[in-house]
Amino acid sequence: MGLVVQKYGGSSVADAEGIKRVAKRIVEAKKNGHQVVAVVSAMGDTTDELIDLAEQVSPMPAGRELDMLLTAGERISMALLAMAIKNLGHSAQSFTGSQAGVITDSVHNKARIIDVTPGRIRTSVDEGNIAIVAGFQGVSQDSKDITTLGRGGSDTTAVALAAALDAEVCEIYTDVDGVFTADPRVVKKAKKIDWIAFEDMLELAASGSKVLLHRCVEYARRYNIPIHVRSSFSGLKGTWVSSEPIEQGDKQVEQAIISGVAHDTSEAKVTVVGVPDKPGEAAAIFRAISDAEINIDMIVQNVSAASTGLTDISFTLPKSEGRKAIDALEKNKGGIGFDSLRYDDQIGKISLVGAGMKTNPGVTADFFKALSDAGVNIELISTSEIRISVVTRADDVNEAVRAVHSAFGLDSDSDEAVVYGGTGR
Ligand code: ADP
Ligand code: ASP
Ligand code: MG
Repeated sequence: MGLVVQKYGGSSVADAEGIKRVAKRIVEAKKNGHQVVAVVSAMGDTTDELIDLAEQVSPMPAGRELDMLLTAGERISMALLAMAIKNLGHSAQSFTGSQAGVITDSVHNKARIIDVTPGRIRTSVDEGNIAIVAGFQGVSQDSKDITTLGRGGSDTTAVALAAALDAEVCEIYTDVDGVFTADPRVVKKAKKIDWIAFEDMLELAASGSKVLLHRCVEYARRYNIPIHVRSSFSGLKGTWVSSEPIEQGDKQVEQAIISGVAHDTSEAKVTVVGVPDKPGEAAAIFRAISDAEINIDMIVQNVSAASTGLTDISFTLPKSEGRKAIDALEKNKGGIGFDSLRYDDQIGKISLVGAGMKTNPGVTADFFKALSDAGVNIELISTSEIRISVVTRADDVNEAVRAVHSAFGLDSDSDEAVVYGGTGR
């Protein structure tokens, strides 16, 4: 039997009991004849608590030092997990991301993995150990500084190690039974998906379904690593994310027309008011934003008023980048030429994802109808081949997700979706 990479998220290792429970699971896999590499996240909400702590000391902590601080969270869980496994009579060794050979670029707080050289991990498992790796962290090739991969980055560590070690499978253990048709914390009638194609999972993840990180799915698709998302609290089979449908009994699971509904309340909207309607303006605005290394999501430009020749441009971005974006635009106000800026962090995004959208023109109309029936006002719209997203007031998001989920017939008529742990933070 081959090597498996298992990743345990923060809610699975939230306390000493959780760590002991996970240790037992890992030992089971080893006893079944697998070589096991386990990637762990920081315990519970440790990362959030460390960020809060940093902000109490400095309103905008230096990226390098924040990474040093945050990586401590994963170090705590990796060492405790190795101890718990040893206590069960099995040998385990823990490794930081840097020791595990996770090499990144040097963009602090959201570094990208550029190479994985897992020599020490390979040696450790070949010698009969269970290798425990701290997720979410790496080391910069250029600066040699410690980096982190962005929130939720342990998922990416797991897939990257699975690819580098040529693992049979990458198992992502979390606090729900798999990927559902909507977040089970919001939609109790969400259904567990047995299989989902990389493409649909990519869109769900990019639209806010944080059960898997977008970059992790991108990585898995590039290296064709099947992911099995499942609960660390139950023994149930979870969701397979892969390029080809899985077999179930003697038949294949079919591609769904609509995969699910995702929502995201982590973004804010910036409106640049009074922009001259002439060539080069949008280029100047978004050059300033990209020079500040800020990723944006949706963009909308209004038609200019004939009397003034001025227009407004709105875009959405992570709330965490809001301050930086406003500063970057203010600094370039003279060069760009606009009247004022508006910042709104009370927005939410709802997205419907499904391969069936390519061939079914009625989907968009049904989506808007469901929102209007729920009394939800739409502020921005964007689409891709297999996704449609709208921005609404943040307060409307949960209601809107439930309305869309029902309207597309996704509600399950059996059990309620179980959430085993975590605070949803
Ligand atoms: P972990 O700590 O294991 O990494 P996360 O909190 O990052 O866990 O991700 C699991 C959470 O993702 C679930 O508790 C659930 O609230 C949320 N979630 C959002 N969308 C979905 C979805 N479509 N299916 C399952 N879980 C989802
Ligand atoms: N501990 C990190 C976070 O909370 C990484 C992860 O959990 O994947 O974002
Ligand atoms: Mg996560």
